[in-house]
Amino acid sequence: MCAAYEPFLQEVLIDEPTLQARVRALGAQISSDYADLGELLLICILKGGVIFLSDLTRHINIPHEIDFMAVKSYQKGDRQTSRNVRIERDLEVHLENKHVLIVEDIIDSGLTLDFVMKMLQARKPASIKLCTLLNKASRREIFIPVQYVGFEIEDKYVFGYGLDLDEKFRNMPFIGVAKL
Ligand code: 5GP
Repeated sequence: MCAAYEPFLQEVLIDEPTLQARVRALGAQISSDYADLGELLLICILKGGVIFLSDLTRHINIPHEIDFMAVKSYQKGDRQTSRNVRIERDLEVHLENKHVLIVEDIIDSGLTLDFVMKMLQARKPASIKLCTLLNKASRREIFIPVQYVGFEIEDKYVFGYGLDLDEKFRNMPFIGVAKL
């Protein structure tokens, strides 16, 4: 019997051992970079970042908090750079004096994160940085400083490891390219 995702999978882009090794390395890097700073807070952007966050947090060996935020973005009219972003679920914790690290699944145009970062900046954290598993740099419409990148990828629609294909297959343990 073939796996449920197989009809939709064109190819495996990043296999499970490669993903796991990279997430472990990111966790070690973050642990060392934040070791002597104050309080660290990881903010996961739902839903796509949830699998990455749950693996990453277990590879960070310094004390830290986690919290979750859900946003919805949609195009406004036909202007590419004009996008409405709505907060569907806000954070529970306050950010003042905390070192915030946003954990995202993938950065595409960058418009959603630009909105989120500006909004969080206004809450006066000690610092705010960005960690993304995947980066589609060629698709960027606005400059976003990204401190931690798992993998640079080409402009292909991918799914698995938290990323959906019509809301399904987020549980696939690797990143695949969708058959379109
Ligand atoms: P942007 O950076 O354009 O504002 O939006 C980023 C969001 O678009 C991501 O958090 C993700 O939800 C979605 N996205 C972008 N590229 C892909 C992709 O290749 N696969 C999936 N599943 N979602 C994507």
